[in-house]
Amino acid sequence: MEEQYKKAGIDGDIYRFTQSVCASLQERFVHIDETAEYNQIKVLKAFHDAHVSEACMSGTSGYGYNDIGRDTLEKVYAYAFGAEAALVRPLIACGTHALAIALFGNLKTGDELLSISGTPYDTLHEVIGIRPSRGSLAEYGITYAETDLDADGRFDFPAIKAAINERTRMVAIQRSKGYSSRRTLSVEEIGEAIAFVKSLNPHIVCMVDNCYGEFAETIEPTDLGADLIVGSLIKNPGGGLAPSGGYICGKKEYVENASFRMTCPGLGSEIGPSLNLNTSFFQGFFLAPTVTASAMKAACLAASVYEKLGFECVPNATEERYDIIQSVALKSPEALQAFCTGIQKAAPVDSFVTPEPWDMPGYDDQVIMASGSFISGSSIELSADGPLREPYNVFFQGGLTWPSAKYGIMMSLQCLKEKGLISL
Ligand SMILES: *Cc1c(COP(=O)(O)O)cnc(C)c1O
Repeated sequence: MEEQYKKAGIDGDIYRFTQSVCASLQERFVHIDETAEYNQIKVLKAFHDAHVSEACMSGTSGYGYNDIGRDTLEKVYAYAFGAEAALVRPLIACGTHALAIALFGNLKTGDELLSISGTPYDTLHEVIGIRPSRGSLAEYGITYAETDLDADGRFDFPAIKAAINERTRMVAIQRSKGYSSRRTLSVEEIGEAIAFVKSLNPHIVCMVDNCYGEFAETIEPTDLGADLIVGSLIKNPGGGLAPSGGYICGKKEYVENASFRMTCPGLGSEIGPSLNLNTSFFQGFFLAPTVTASAMKAACLAASVYEKLGFECVPNATEERYDIIQSVALKSPEALQAFCTGIQKAAPVDSFVTPEPWDMPGYDDQVIMASGSFISGSSIELSADGPLREPYNVFFQGGLTWPSAKYGIMMSLQCLKEKGLISL
């Protein structure tokens, strides 16, 4: 094996170091595999209950009337996520679009949206109007409030109680830390917060941004009372095969409200062709539990090797994990660039290019990104990125297969070693 890695550019000391760390992680890997096994059966049972048939694999064009594949896929998502209804569409362009549809569909002028997990993911700032923007919720007279997580990164119940008023129509919760340094919230904690909100006012719609969290645990927020969960198909639930798309799952009424925004009033979910994508969506969802497990193992390994080398990791090497994102504080721009170079070198696509820091719209600092993915921008595939600022955090996620993700981590170590930035 060591010879095989040597041929692929990995020194013996890096191979042996990684192997010894992997050996110490066996117990955690068994736990991750058990979660995947549990979720695989859940998904398979949803396929059976929804009567997925060969006919579901073909798609529709034009209006997409009577698209049996699309309608059955939506049943599969609803059953697997313990929800009444689902929208799963290639025409939803990304996670932000799915979240915007869910928000606009369920909020009206005079309503207030309350985020109880702090400031939401960057791309939602303009949707909400936190940053003034054309077409935002704010422009339609929908106001916004937020409560931060407490010093331990947990829900601040007294603050939530104080922030809820008679106009609070919807509460938003972001499960994953995304690209911030806070903790990721467990589904259990999310369930407790939802129960608390409902005890104050049962009519408040509780929506969870579920991005990066799907299949990381054996339950989803809809199993513990969330009215809506929303996510992207080029992350966990697409299993690496969905080429585009987003989903919205939850209570029938709220999913329908969203459908009238996704298309238009009157048409809702009845139109929208699946094109030729049904097979990729079904197959991707079928693979999603094990693909997510590969990404979870990769995140676990990355935290363990980098922590041993003296870098601070969130989550740390021993904490319970609730999503696929790993951040590592690399402490210098050179180390951040070397890490990303390694991830890029290990990719199946574009392995020969070198990532460079870049001025990105919407960011104050330059950003460096590594991604050699089959699906453009897919972050269930091995990828890494980070802003060029202290403490030079890299956010690392994905890995369609465990061996390829492990190789990516070894290659990142190799690049840091070659630059003299680590010594084993
Ligand atoms: C990825 C992500 C989104 C949506 O991002 P898109 O790039 O629009 O798919 C929203 N929230 C969180 C926490 C995310 O990780």
